[in-house]
Amino acid sequence: MSGTLFIVATPIGNLGDISARAKAVLTEASAIACEDTRTSAKLLQHLGISQPLLAYHEHNEQQLAPLLADRIANGENIALICDAGTPTLSDPGFRVVRECRRRHIPVTPVPGPCAFVAALSASGLPTNAFRYTGFLPPKSAARLRFLEPIRDAEETVILYESCHRIAKFAQEIADTLGANRVVCLARELTKLHETFLVGPIAEQIPLLQGGNLRGEFVVLIAPYDFRI
Ligand code: SAM
Repeated sequence: MSGTLFIVATPIGNLGDISARAKAVLTEASAIACEDTRTSAKLLQHLGISQPLLAYHEHNEQQLAPLLADRIANGENIALICDAGTPTLSDPGFRVVRECRRRHIPVTPVPGPCAFVAALSASGLPTNAFRYTGFLPPKSAARLRFLEPIRDAEETVILYESCHRIAKFAQEIADTLGANRVVCLARELTKLHETFLVGPIAEQIPLLQGGNLRGEFVVLIAPYDFRI
């Protein structure tokens, strides 16, 4: 009898966001695959869970995916988590899910926190159609190539950006898409300093200068003709 691979979402800041089902699945799994064992050990200690952890990250994903699938095929239930949020979304996990699907091994999501869904849901930007693009390329030229086609976007475009580049990126949005383009910069979601900056990009730029607003950001760019 095959076991199951559980894709378990964990909090993106507020530990109260762990679900009862996530706790139960993590407690009963024979092993928990995670990105960084030290980060996940802290969460699991907080939850009183002591299942064995195994490191599954971008550098060993390719080798580990078939081995994990073997263990599940032999009857183990294995849970996959990431440092924060939903595994496989700008985080490791896609390869083991694909491997299990190829081999008809059951895969079940245990849904919960996800930074871009949280940001979109509270942004006030259109949610009927959106495009999630993950992290931006770090180099300026590649970023501009990415931004150009968004000029005429008819859906909300969502991406992740590092706090170190957010001020520069805001200026790039204004330069490429125009000063009036409506954005939502969602920072430190579910944490003490959660902040939403919503409105034309030109109005947000002064707020980002001087590095006052640190932390993690989700950037949402509204459709070209949207006004808040
Ligand atoms: N898989 C995760 C998810 O479901 O949201 C995303 C992981 S990705 C490696 C990390 C990025 O997500 C951060 O650089 C930031 O852009 C965004 N992020 C994660 N937690 C956040 C938070 N609490 N507030 C704002 N953005 C966050």
